[in-house]
Amino acid sequence: MRPWRKWVLMAGVSLLAAGCQTTGNKEAYEAALKKAAEPKASPDAAVAAEPQPEPEAEVPAAGEIADGRTYTSDQQRFKTYRYDDLDPGERPAMDTDEAGIWMAMDRAEKKLSTGGAVITDPALNAYVRDITCKLAGDYCSDIRVYLVRVPVFNASMAPNGMMNIYSGLLLRAQNEAQLATVIGHEIGHYLRRHSAQRIESLVNTTGGLAAFQLLTIALGVPAIGSVASIAASGSLAAFSRDNEREADGYGLLLMGRAGYDPREAAKIWENLKREFADKDKKKSIFYASHPPQEERAAVLAQLADVVPVEGEPTLNAERYRAAIAPYRFSFLQDELGKRDPESFEPLLEILIEDGFQIGMLQYFKGEMFRVRGEKDDAQKALEAYALAEQAGDPPPELFRSKGLVLNRIGEKDKAREAFQSYIRLAPDAEDRQMIEFLITGVGS
Ligand SMILES: [Zn+2]
Repeated sequence: MRPWRKWVLMAGVSLLAAGCQTTGNKEAYEAALKKAAEPKASPDAAVAAEPQPEPEAEVPAAGEIADGRTYTSDQQRFKTYRYDDLDPGERPAMDTDEAGIWMAMDRAEKKLSTGGAVITDPALNAYVRDITCKLAGDYCSDIRVYLVRVPVFNASMAPNGMMNIYSGLLLRAQNEAQLATVIGHEIGHYLRRHSAQRIESLVNTTGGLAAFQLLTIALGVPAIGSVASIAASGSLAAFSRDNEREADGYGLLLMGRAGYDPREAAKIWENLKREFADKDKKKSIFYASHPPQEERAAVLAQLADVVPVEGEPTLNAERYRAAIAPYRFSFLQDELGKRDPESFEPLLEILIEDGFQIGMLQYFKGEMFRVRGEKDDAQKALEAYALAEQAGDPPPELFRSKGLVLNRIGEKDKAREAFQSYIRLAPDAEDRQMIEFLITGVGS
């Protein structure tokens, strides 16, 4: 049996179990979710009291699952977690490896929180915090979210509750439910103490110090503006694939509990797959540690049908757009700066299909061609700029870029006209003098 099928079965059974006990009752469902993570005092006694049928062949045998669970029945799971979920407000005991990791992460967090990569805007932070708390429930105050300006689809969770959400993720999510997918996943890592599990397996294979160093690097704080270093740390595979699958399952449960439409979870991975379709899979930093996007999307889509959802499933697309709108231009500018049209173009297509701020997106499509500057790119850029103007909300910068392209291909009059439009729309632009100089130079 392929591993992902096993996971579908496992997660399906657990979701079903949670769903049955809790239909329409939030408290009962939360209790069940919590109870599901608690180790049974004596699983054997329970088995003795009520004889259970032999496990089906599909149910993983005891010890087969790397996360430390033991399954003795397909009807009832008896689990022996080596690691209980953390209670709200709990920190690991001081004499443990886990406490050492927490302290290292506390120091890293202090550094990050004063670093230049963090987006400090109170409105955006409050918005993401609100979503996080909706998902985290009682654990809200244990998790601190940092929005970091890095143009990569990623988010990370350190064992001490420091969560990093990259601006590349904020750009790619199309509604609140999609963002909640990833935040819920990261909360899953925290609740299930995956870093503690990870450190144990690393200690077993590499010895204490090396394990500690590896994990510290892998869970590390993103270096400011250095995409290369993030790619390097991503490939260290902080969590195992089983951990990732478990986090996906938890994320979906939390999403449903918070009333988000769980069907959005698969979409974010489908979009990512599309974005990187033309690229070597190995270049995607997610590939090393995370299950391939196809598998992920397929599993999440199936689970979305069975996960219990509180009330009418919501997307909150308008709320999301309003929160992200002030940042979109700069996030897109960051993506353009990666000079990677092979994946920027599909990303823009996906966002254009979504239909929000099309003028801005077409402008960036034009910029992508203008910056690349290959054969026919001037024409392609002008076509995209024209579509941006048609869409009705082009940024003033469009006219500056249009002027530059027209100037390059010798359309002097049109170039001057475009530059003049730019000055008219952005009279306080920092480069006004330079553009005025170009206007004079163009005609002569
Ligand atoms: Zn993960």
